[in-house]
Amino acid sequence: MSGSFSIIDAHAHCGREDRFPPQDIRDYASYLGRSGIRAVIMFPPVSEIYDRYDPGFKDTDQWRERRRESNEYLLGISSPELTVYPFLFIWNDYAVDQLTPAHKGIKWHRHPDEPRYDYENPLCSAAIADIRRRGMPVCLEEEFENTLYFINELARGVKVIIPHLGLLNGGYESLRRRDIWAMPNIYADTALAPPGDIKDYVSRYGHERIMFGSDFPFGDPVHELNKVMRLGLTDAQRAAITGLNAARLLSESNV
Ligand SMILES: [Zn+2]
Repeated sequence: MSGSFSIIDAHAHCGREDRFPPQDIRDYASYLGRSGIRAVIMFPPVSEIYDRYDPGFKDTDQWRERRRESNEYLLGISSPELTVYPFLFIWNDYAVDQLTPAHKGIKWHRHPDEPRYDYENPLCSAAIADIRRRGMPVCLEEEFENTLYFINELARGVKVIIPHLGLLNGGYESLRRRDIWAMPNIYADTALAPPGDIKDYVSRYGHERIMFGSDFPFGDPVHELNKVMRLGLTDAQRAAITGLNAARLLSESNV
């Protein structure tokens, strides 16, 4: 950061195999124009991690290899124009041994009708202990009950980023009623979240744990950034949400 301010997109997917829609690093860069986005937190696409359309999906060596390659791809795409902060997309082999010094977080993702994380596996708690030790944030997209379980029991105190202001974790309001947003270790991103929810969040919980995200390729980084810029926030709030909060979180992770 060195005093100067740069915009960080805290939520984008990037990979090589999934072309619908196209989502490699050149595709991302082609959206940026004069947006001022200089850094991005990136996760592999879901389709490179597990078969989301098969609820009975069983892990195989081939899938483990595919995951490893997909996570590895993100390690080699930073450039002078765009700094990429890779998050390791974790699945049921809980391969935290693949974490490198470049990794700044963990992606944990599942929708209700998709194959489940094996929360009973001892490797799961071992992975969480390692994540906790590294001070790493986990970007957690899970159904409501599992989100509560993760935050309140399994990974108590671990920094968790809830994407889309909870849109796919049971909803912003449901999480608000459980006092989740007020917890000091819980962060949020604005990707595809309704402007009204973002404003409500800032008025209740302040502007220090909420970060601009695009959900590229499903969201357009420039459009999503403009959404945040047009909320009528103060300059200080905007600066925090579009870069300073993410920079702080990243600087505290895996050091
Ligand atoms: Zn996403």
